[in-house]
Amino acid sequence: MTASKTQWIIDELSSLKQQGLYNTIRTLGSPQGAWLVVDGRRVLNFCSNNYLGLANHPRLLAAARAAMDKYGIGPAAVRSIAGTMDLHLELERRLAAFKGAEACITFQSGFAANLATVPALVGKDDVIFSDELNHASIIDGSRLAGAKIVRYSHNNPDSLRAAIAAEKQNGALGSGEKRRALVISDGVFSMDGDIAPLPELVKVAEEESFLLMVDDAHGEGVLGKGGRGIVDHFGLHRRVDVEIGTLSKAFGVVGGCVAGDATVVEWLRQRGRPFLFSSAMTVPDVAACLAGIDLLEESTELVDKLWENARYFKAEMKTLGFDTGASATPITPVMLGEAPLAQQFSRSLFENGVFGMAIGFPTVAKGKARIRVMISAAHSRDDLDKGLAAFAKVGKELGVTQ
Ligand code: PMP
Repeated sequence: MTASKTQWIIDELSSLKQQGLYNTIRTLGSPQGAWLVVDGRRVLNFCSNNYLGLANHPRLLAAARAAMDKYGIGPAAVRSIAGTMDLHLELERRLAAFKGAEACITFQSGFAANLATVPALVGKDDVIFSDELNHASIIDGSRLAGAKIVRYSHNNPDSLRAAIAAEKQNGALGSGEKRRALVISDGVFSMDGDIAPLPELVKVAEEESFLLMVDDAHGEGVLGKGGRGIVDHFGLHRRVDVEIGTLSKAFGVVGGCVAGDATVVEWLRQRGRPFLFSSAMTVPDVAACLAGIDLLEESTELVDKLWENARYFKAEMKTLGFDTGASATPITPVMLGEAPLAQQFSRSLFENGVFGMAIGFPTVAKGKARIRVMISAAHSRDDLDKGLAAFAKVGKELGVTQ
């Protein structure tokens, strides 16, 4: 008898389990918030990207309900056929104004925004310069584009310059037909919480006349005045050609967007494949995002609270003796090293009432497993103290701290 067609998958799955790399997916039985019901148990939430607590905010819920009464739920079409409602255009106008960009186009997710944008801007004769720690959706978008992908060292503009010089030298740039280049970086790196040196990347891109794209998924609603994002944080309005965003994190909904140069946005309406071939964002999603922009434009209170919480938590974790890496944002990696230790740490936290997921290879490099704590404006000081007490206890029990 021949081996089963799926035997190789069974073998791979058991190997993942042996290495401590198997994803055990927990299930929520409550709305997002500082506290969740996870696998039937009430626990403190340190895992979600619900930075501002908007995922279950009454204003967003009310807006979604009201819009559904008027427009129904689903778009039932792709944007370019019958899926563009006036609500979609309003969201795009509002997002562009919020971020101080010329124009904006929305997608079904941040992932889809990256898959749409990179192949629309570069093709097989072109070169992409990509930070080595860029998000999976940038990597996949780059592969779809078919362009040559040149990785430069993480957050290192000198390495970027050297990579450009090498490509010029070997003839891939600057002569003959090959000739477009795109520099791409995450804005905030999602696993480490460090921020890209955007002013220097802008400088390089301007000197070389290359397009520059930044993925601000973890900067939106977090960085800049009242959460206007990384371009606002550095005062680089109109100097970054393409700003990818997500409505799935700080906005608490789901969706993606591309803000930036009006010509690029117009081109994406013609050539962004997820725009042309996958249905539009749903009505409640769009309406909730509009209510999110209202909230952020009215007050910086939620963003201020997020940062106050993040500063407090990170400082206390350092005092407890944990290594929280190079984070400059509310993303707080708790570095543990080997994946089995991170998984054990996560299980013990859970037993102590705290939901903090272990992250290992391939999401981060081997030997760099961690618990990634996501701080939110929804946490109270008391919540953070409860979380810190659990980290202190488990850290000692597992010999991570003294
Ligand atoms: N880019 C980055 C940097 C991200 O961290 C993520 C989410 N993990 C995405 C894009 C994808 O966003 P979405 O969840 O909206 O698809």
